[in-house]
Amino acid sequence: MSKPIEIRNPRTGKYDYVIVPPPEKLLVQQCNRLRRAQQSWFDLGVSGRIDALLELKDTIYSKQDTLTEALTIDTGRFRESKLEVDFFISSIERWCRLSSKILQETQKGTSISFINLQQTGIPYALVGVISPWNFPLLLSTIDTIPALLAGCAVVVKPSELTPRFMAPLMNAISNIPKLRDILIFIEGDGKTGASLIDNVDLVCFTGSVETGQQVAIAAAQRFIPAFLELGGKDPAIVLESADIELATSAILWGSVVNSGQSCLSIERIYVAQNIYEEFYHKIVAKAHKLNLAYPTLESGEIGPIISERQAAIINEHLQDAVEKGAVIHCGGKVEKIGGGWWCHPTVITEVNHHMKLMNEETFGPIMPIMSFSKVEEAIELANDTYYGLSAAVFAESPDEALEIARQIDAGAISINDAGLTGMMHEAEKNAFKFSGLGASRMGASALTRFIRKKAFLIKTNDNYDPWWFNQ
Ligand code: NAD
Repeated sequence: MSKPIEIRNPRTGKYDYVIVPPPEKLLVQQCNRLRRAQQSWFDLGVSGRIDALLELKDTIYSKQDTLTEALTIDTGRFRESKLEVDFFISSIERWCRLSSKILQETQKGTSISFINLQQTGIPYALVGVISPWNFPLLLSTIDTIPALLAGCAVVVKPSELTPRFMAPLMNAISNIPKLRDILIFIEGDGKTGASLIDNVDLVCFTGSVETGQQVAIAAAQRFIPAFLELGGKDPAIVLESADIELATSAILWGSVVNSGQSCLSIERIYVAQNIYEEFYHKIVAKAHKLNLAYPTLESGEIGPIISERQAAIINEHLQDAVEKGAVIHCGGKVEKIGGGWWCHPTVITEVNHHMKLMNEETFGPIMPIMSFSKVEEAIELANDTYYGLSAAVFAESPDEALEIARQIDAGAISINDAGLTGMMHEAEKNAFKFSGLGASRMGASALTRFIRKKAFLIKTNDNYDPWWFNQ
């Protein structure tokens, strides 16, 4: 028997839920069962798989309140839970709409006249998805939907910090006979995640750089592909020509939504010297208007910090910055209230790149602001990081912003917004530097990365090939 794991409620601090990871033997059995069922799933063809997923979409739609409620208890916040469920529903719909065209097999001519080429795609039979806690539903399904449409069976292992949403989701899946044989969600922590890698044919991992490195090593040892989506330290550059009203509203949202616990949170803000004072006064004023979602979910916009560990990281970064001369204008500390950990939106200036706050992923509602005098300086500061997930640039004209965006080492850049990069299914993007590895989870490769290509090469005349032995 595996040991049950008690799960903490982020609002109350109470351990009020228990998960039981599958014993190794059961996990192996489940993976074998899914792998066996995958062929029938693939044989349904793209249209059959689309039908099953659209059925899931309808079921989720009709049970969205239960799913939202479970997610809300998992994470302690309501607005983002609602957004996650909405995004999940529209995501199924959009991938179903795009997938037929992406997966269409076209036969091309060859450059050698006597060889006829036929190409086909064979999906990896069993995909393992390992996901984090910050958007539990969104990030456990973002790779799962395209993998299913490509014809794979999928085992998902969400984070042990936020497992409650799995029950209503599995319940919805169990009502769809074609899906329940090839898609399961399993409970467990890092140990279960590591075991999963031993039993699948491809792994999609979303999480921290440290764990991502362990996943990459484990996958390399088994020679299976690993697609890694890891941490970030996203910069926003605000040029002198930018609309300050717009930039402050967008950056405030991009930094503090989900209490700053997003991989693509804006964690560093570089503002042109001439507008710096106005910018930070304005963002402080706007930050003051946001409230903690405490004591009730409806009390405000800012939910709890997920765990004591996460709270300690934020406080450590803030303390380090203050000790090195930074100035806090609002917020400034993660505090324990009613058993949970909470942090008001925090604006902090007089920061520099010797501080943890500007180098390491903080994952809190913190907005450190630096001024720059030349755009070259801003670009250099933005690129002075080992992450390269995404970024944002604000300017009056998109062309001016794009000129800067082209020089930023990151996979996706929002122009005059701070959070567009997670939204578009069509926008192909790779994580740069330590923010990830492997093909894009958006765009056509979101599906094609799950398919191995196979070539049939057919000789079309009876003549000997010129390079054969002359016998
Ligand atoms: P984490 O790395 O601690 O855990 C992620 C998942 O990996 C969990 O399900 C965990 O149980 C599992 N795990 C732990 N050890 C494992 C092992 N040895 N083998 C296999 N699985 C293992 O990350 P977290 O704290 O849950 O999430 C926060 C991190 O995720 C942040 O760094 C954030 O930036 C990143 N993130 C990235 C993206 C993205 O798209 N790039 C999105 C969201 C979050």
